[in-house]
Amino acid sequence: MAAYEYETHNYDVVVVGAGGSGLRATLGMAEQGLKTACVTKVFPTRSHTVAAQGGIAASLGNMGPDNWQWHMYDTVKGSDWLGDTDAMEYLAREAPKAVYELEHYGVPFSRTEDGKIYQRPFGGHTTQFGEGPPVQRTCAAADRTGHAILHTLYGQSLKNNAEFFIEYFAIDLIMSEDGQCQGVVAWKLDDGTIHVFNAKMTVLATGGYGRAYFSATSAHTCTGDGGGMVARAGLPLQDMEFVQFHPTGIYGAGCLITEGARGEGGYLTNAEGERFMERYAPTYKDLASRDVVSRCMTMEIREGRGVGDKKDHIHLHLSHLPPEALHLRLPGISESARIFAGVDVTKEPIPVLPTVHYNMGGIPTNYWGEVLNPTKDDPDRVSPGLMAVGEAGCASVHGANRLGSNSLIDLVVFGRAAAIRAGEIVDANAANPRLNQASVDKALARFDDLRHAKGAIPTAELRDEMQQTMQSDAAVFRTDKTLAEGVDKMYGVARKMEDISVTDRSMIWNSDLMETLELTNLMPNALATIVSAEARKESRGAHAQEDHPDRNDEEWRKHTLAWVNGKVDLDYRPVHLNPLLGHNEGGIDLKKIAPKARVY
Ligand SMILES: Cc1cc2nc3c(=O)[nH]c(=O)nc-3n(C[C@H](O)[C@H](O)[C@H](O)COP(=O)(O)OP(=O)(O)OC[C@H]3O[C@@H](n4cnc5c(N)ncnc54)[C@H](O)[C@@H]3O)c2cc1C
Repeated sequence: MAAYEYETHNYDVVVVGAGGSGLRATLGMAEQGLKTACVTKVFPTRSHTVAAQGGIAASLGNMGPDNWQWHMYDTVKGSDWLGDTDAMEYLAREAPKAVYELEHYGVPFSRTEDGKIYQRPFGGHTTQFGEGPPVQRTCAAADRTGHAILHTLYGQSLKNNAEFFIEYFAIDLIMSEDGQCQGVVAWKLDDGTIHVFNAKMTVLATGGYGRAYFSATSAHTCTGDGGGMVARAGLPLQDMEFVQFHPTGIYGAGCLITEGARGEGGYLTNAEGERFMERYAPTYKDLASRDVVSRCMTMEIREGRGVGDKKDHIHLHLSHLPPEALHLRLPGISESARIFAGVDVTKEPIPVLPTVHYNMGGIPTNYWGEVLNPTKDDPDRVSPGLMAVGEAGCASVHGANRLGSNSLIDLVVFGRAAAIRAGEIVDANAANPRLNQASVDKALARFDDLRHAKGAIPTAELRDEMQQTMQSDAAVFRTDKTLAEGVDKMYGVARKMEDISVTDRSMIWNSDLMETLELTNLMPNALATIVSAEARKESRGAHAQEDHPDRNDEEWRKHTLAWVNGKVDLDYRPVHLNPLLGHNEGGIDLKKIAPKARVY
């Protein structure tokens, strides 16, 4: 192997990722005086969070009555009773605080007539514990909420002296022999130098792995790098079978049309011009939760009522809305529809199709963002020195299905929680850990092997094969047969990594090598997803299994754990059923969130 020299940087905390969660964690750490580095493979404001349009959920009650218990109920129901009760309570309870903090940091939210933060309705968000009308809970900065949040948090992080390492690609975690995380090894993309970040706390905020599928709303950079690193460190991934399909990706391009479009009054029709959601979800119709709407659309298409020449998509109508409302509330999607579908939304419907949008599964954590390394005796055992936040993590607040606008709030609530926790457990005066050289060497050896890979299959070709396999066998509709075949196929695809071909051996701006490293991260995420899905013999949230159409709480109200190392080993851990606050302390009435059928 080529010898690699590297520069070592000592920090209290290294955050990998500068999306909403990474920046909120970075800011929180830096505000407390912890010496904090944020390492990111793309410029912070180009992280996928920038694309979030619709908004961020918090029960501010600016547009009508609301409270955190209703938000919690909706989250529990949305999760199809797979989320952890303590984490979901923490999310709903801390959400208003986290949003007001964003406001005070400078996020330019849209406003109501009397100057309060504007809130819009979103799917699955209701009043009166699901008994009342939809609530306006989703705070928005027009349809560019993620953009506004990222720019604000980046500026605030700089103001608080956080240090940014931009266009540095984190290769692997550095782990001590007794399982303590000691930082990361990273490759600086623009000059080819190697950097070792030695830290008392490492925070993975690397985002989702939407790019394991062919059609995804997420950026090409969403390659599950955190999950890949964790899997290689011998730690498990959790609930990976739950992949959210957004009902309204633009047909062909995959770009997202926000749920806010239906929140503002848009609706779906089939080839007969029928507003079919009224048939499936009589109460909430087009604003039923995402998995429900995606499944109904797929059903309409399968039964021959799709629109277009191939009858393979659905129409989304906005043209009945006043042009001023479209201009004011949904300017970005009017533009996307014009560019990517060639459609003028004031006159014609937008062609849409369910598209991979969000990964509920990820690196298991408690509600402080601390990564878990569960055992049978201690399912909540903490893996020291390591945290995960944002879409990379699984706290778990989204369980089997995430509600729209609950991710942005997850980013800031848990980014903030991780910082609060780090403030308690990281000693800024202590010396940095003595690095485990063997772990650094192992990361560099893997890097070097890939750099000099002389196989026969180009990275792009193998990635395409993986994406097609996942798209056809681990999508909205799943059966015993398709999943079993999919598992075999995916193992076959993953084995081909041994025959990967990298042609560019240079160290500077080597996109061939970077994409190969990303593929080595996508692969374990994809494998864990399909193997976990094959094993779960029930239907819950986004996991709709045609051969096991009912939810089975008796046997399956538990989190899947998947260790990926060549093959996938599965185990399970219990769902947290206890709230943080007792009912007499103002906490939720447990009877209100007891499992029942999920009907919208
Ligand atoms: C089109 C779209 C619209 C959405 N709209 C909404 C919405 O309106 N409301 C809502 O609640 N949710 C929405 N979501 C979901 C939400 O935006 C995402 O879940 C969330 O932004 C993820 O944020 P994150 O901080 O976890 O990661 P990301 O924003 O994806 O950022 C990941 C970061 O990790 C870094 N990184 C990754 N790998 C490495 C590596 N190996 N080395 C160094 N750095 C690395 C990247 O550089 C990046 O900075 C939307 C998602 C999409 C795709």
